[in-house]
Amino acid sequence: IPGPVGSSMIPIVNKLQDIFTQLGNSSTIDLPQVAVVGSQSSGKSSVLEALVGRDFLPRGSDICTRRPLVLQLVHIPRRSDAPAEGGEEWGEFLHLPGKRFYNFSEIRREIQAETDREAGANQGVSDKQIRLKIFSPNVLNITLVDLPGITKVPVGDQPSDIESRIRTMILSYIKHETCIILAVSPANADLSNSDALQMARIVDPDGSRTIGVITKLDIMDKGTDARNFLLGNVIPLRLGYVGIVNRSQQDINFSRSIKDALANEEMFFRLHPVYHDLSHCCGIPQLAKKLNKILVQHIKTVLPGLKSRINSQLVAVAKEHAAYGDVAESKAGQGVKLLNILTKYCEAFASMIDGKNDELSTT
Ligand code: GDP
Ligand code: MG
Repeated sequence: IPGPVGSSMIPIVNKLQDIFTQLGNSSTIDLPQVAVVGSQSSGKSSVLEALVGRDFLPRGSDICTRRPLVLQLVHIPRRSDAPAEGGEEWGEFLHLPGKRFYNFSEIRREIQAETDREAGANQGVSDKQIRLKIFSPNVLNITLVDLPGITKVPVGDQPSDIESRIRTMILSYIKHETCIILAVSPANADLSNSDALQMARIVDPDGSRTIGVITKLDIMDKGTDARNFLLGNVIPLRLGYVGIVNRSQQDINFSRSIKDALANEEMFFRLHPVYHDLSHCCGIPQLAKKLNKILVQHIKTVLPGLKSRINSQLVAVAKEHAAYGDVAESKAGQGVKLLNILTKYCEAFASMIDGKNDELSTT
């Protein structure tokens, strides 16, 4: 089973971030945000969890995600004395500063409790964010946003204009040019009517930052399949589609693990007569791969700008050196060395994008 999203890029991005810290440079690599959009219960929270590789989001058949959850993954170094499982990963909420949650079920309970505090217990929705940081050696520094799904008929305490309120909330996240949109549509509903694709098209008409995600391939009507959709023959998308099988409600009730679910998904696609030859666009690992490619592309685009900023810093340090003598020399020398490393990485990125090698060496 492959690592969570971005794990193949962890070493290189960390190395780059180390370089910037050493230089005392304020510039860092800001990776784009990833947001999930779609109708209620389409499987958005399930997809995010599978990408992160941990169970901690409220999921279910009614409206579970009722406030935007901004999930910041923060990479920390692996401890040499750490136990193999758990213990070195924890979560922290902005509204509970300093409190570390090592138990991920407790994180889920706190998300639910904090949702109720702001949005009430009766299905209300609020646009006030919940901000959660997950610290782990197994993640890339990236921000994922889980959003409430589009719902049409007000229930519980929801106002009569619930649909337009949620649409406005979603748009406020996905309108940013740097946001990657995971447009999630369940395969057991009419895909050409997808709320997700319709919303994504409003802010990203040429589809340069939208990935189509089709969930629930396991519970389509007998005799139907999503093959043509996955191949982009129905609604073409530049970045394409990925088909997914998440855990069912029964799996959730029986606390089936993510690891189990991924193995089950892999088997589903491998044995399925319609999908077995579509392995390039099926499964959570493929979605993670697609995301990584986009992130690498993004880093490649921002690196030249960072390089030139470091270059001009070096010029400034050299001038200082001339003015004050030897004190600044070591720093300038270090800068030149780091700049060389950076140049090497830029080239490595370029070949990674061209598909020559999937993983990058950090030596
Ligand atoms: P969200 O409202 O879009 O965040 O959807 P959730 O992730 O909370 O999932 C809603 C319900 O659909 C849950 O009961 C999930 O177990 C179920 N579900 C999600 N994806 C799939 C899938 O691929 N297959 C099956 N069988 N059930 C799924
Ligand atoms: Mg949800």
